Amino acid sequence: MTNKYCDVIVVGGGNAALCAAMSAKEHGAKVLVLERAPEAKRGGNSRFTGGGFRMVHNGLEDIKEVVPELSAEDIAITDFGQYTAEKYLDDLGRTTQYNIDPELAEILVDRSTDTVKWIRKQGVKFEPQYGRQAFKVNGRYKFTSGVVVNAIGAGQGLVESEYKAIAQQGIELRYGAHVMKLLRGKEGVNGVSVVIDGVEEQIYAGAVVLACGGFEANREWRTRYLGPGWELVKVRGTRYNTGEGIRMALEIGAQSYGHWSASHACPFERYAPDFGNLEKIGAGIRHSYPMGIMVNAEGKRFVDEGADWRNFTYVKYGPIVLKQPGSYAWQVFDTQTTHLLRGEYKMRGGHKVEADTLEELVKRMEDVEPKAFLETVREFDASIKKDAPPFDPNIKDGRGTVGLALPKSNWATALDKPPYTAYSIGCGITFTFGGIKIDKTSRVLDMADDPMRGLYAGGEIVGGLFYFNYPSSSGLMAGAVFGRTAGREAALFALGKTAE
Ligand SMILES: Cc1cc2nc3c(=O)[nH]c(=O)nc-3n(C[C@H](O)[C@H](O)[C@H](O)COP(=O)(O)OP(=O)(O)OC[C@H]3O[C@@H](n4cnc5c(N)ncnc54)[C@H](O)[C@@H]3O)c2cc1C
Repeated sequence: MTNKYCDVIVVGGGNAALCAAMSAKEHGAKVLVLERAPEAKRGGNSRFTGGGFRMVHNGLEDIKEVVPELSAEDIAITDFGQYTAEKYLDDLGRTTQYNIDPELAEILVDRSTDTVKWIRKQGVKFEPQYGRQAFKVNGRYKFTSGVVVNAIGAGQGLVESEYKAIAQQGIELRYGAHVMKLLRGKEGVNGVSVVIDGVEEQIYAGAVVLACGGFEANREWRTRYLGPGWELVKVRGTRYNTGEGIRMALEIGAQSYGHWSASHACPFERYAPDFGNLEKIGAGIRHSYPMGIMVNAEGKRFVDEGADWRNFTYVKYGPIVLKQPGSYAWQVFDTQTTHLLRGEYKMRGGHKVEADTLEELVKRMEDVEPKAFLETVREFDASIKKDAPPFDPNIKDGRGTVGLALPKSNWATALDKPPYTAYSIGCGITFTFGGIKIDKTSRVLDMADDPMRGLYAGGEIVGGLFYFNYPSSSGLMAGAVFGRTAGREAALFALGKTAE
């Protein structure tokens, strides 16, 4: 039976919540974690990630502190580069079109390195992201961005290590605990109403941390806030992030904040299950479109597939696929590039057709206007510059088209080496950007920007960080930074140690 009082209640069971819980415990609080999912499905979206953390670093010395296991050979063949605070701020500004809350951006950047080192001390092990973020050229790896390390075992490894740490630290945890409501007393928020095993109970606390995600798994809210058609998209991660934490906070006067009508969404297997599958994490990703072309139901191309590295286009192209007639499209490749497709294309369950001729291929695609498709491919093939540089997937090769209303700027190769392969895609949502407003100590703010006593938040539930797009691997980093801060501040408040 759960105790009816503790110092800090943490709502959620992903990376932000677990960091909040460990941090609150570190500051002397008696902590209770309430995770809505059953134990087998614990860990939220954090569990579905690649486990990468975008952090400021000054090269080898910082990386060695996070990955002490680095071998002499690793060190000899790797240039870890540097990722300065200025560069990180610049990347956050650019990708969010300078809408990011500047105070939150500074905190995220300034505390990133120390927070990753702190997570390491809790027992999470890291490794360099060779292969994903650095490629071997002339016998050496070179990292060029702030994403150098990921948790060993990716998101799964990350949350398993965090749950292990929670258990070792003696933090109490309940699964299948669906928090429904925030309770308030004289001192502010002082507990929650939660349904466990079908029974509603009230649990009181000195402070509450909300770290229970966004609303991407809520069809109605997606339609309401992201727009018509968003009820149809596939959810790439957990089914438990339905915006309950946001709703509870708004109900008692918290301020909504951030880009409510936008989300992280990308091209995804059209017939994927409605929610992410823990048995096949990563299945459904369709990010290799720069290696071919994409056509809609009318047989027409609708984006510049080679505009940039996929890192900078995939989040924009998900919503564009959704807007196509019927909300689907096809990615088409020939044998010159099929061997370059990401591993997820080879996983079972994808909707794929193959044929030796384009005429037969489009027949098998069934729901694409055949004449227009054949004309699109003919025009595309004919438009590739005669003096184009050779195809090279390792660089932005400048091998583009000329004269098309919609160009392909890089990696343009004529579709003339059968057999042909086509994958049917739709849109998959990763997480939502809108949420509630916090200050620099992770206190939830009301409509007048005043802190709501006893209420703290961290992770995806927080608005104001991501707009339009986001620099990859800053979601886990933000969850860790603001979750950790929320846990510490909630503990200090609950134990009467806050300065105010
Ligand atoms: C497929 C995929 C890949 C991704 N890859 C990356 C990546 O490589 N790097 C990166 O930085 N980010 C990535 N992200 C984004 C990243 O997952 C999030 O930014 C981050 O994990 C959010 O952490 P969180 O703790 O706030 O939320 P979550 O990890 O989603 O945790 C929310 C928790 O709240 C619980 N919950 C919800 N409602 C309630 C309730 N009412 N009561 C109790 N508990 C509740 C849920 O069960 C869940 O445990 C990816 C996301 C997905 C879906």
